[in-house]
Amino acid sequence: MTENEFVLPESPLSTGQDAPDAFPPLETETVTSWKVACQGDESRGLGHPRVWMQISPFTGYVDCAYCDKRFVVDREHVHDDH
Ligand SMILES: [Zn+2]
Repeated sequence: MTENEFVLPESPLSTGQDAPDAFPPLETETVTSWKVACQGDESRGLGHPRVWMQISPFTGYVDCAYCDKRFVVDREHVHDDH
């Protein structure tokens, strides 16, 4: 068994910058509950039916399926509903 060196392919078009982010910056909100409700941002015409979401304790966040808004739990201040 030989010891191979893994060489990462370099992009010939690389300009030394980080890969451009194709996605617009997501709106994020820090919450202190594992359950969050979202109904979009009506003031910007981005409202949607109100939905409740459960934040996964593994990832610590959940993305709204309607408006892609991300809710990040504040683990230090989160309160359990039990
Ligand atoms: Zn939403």
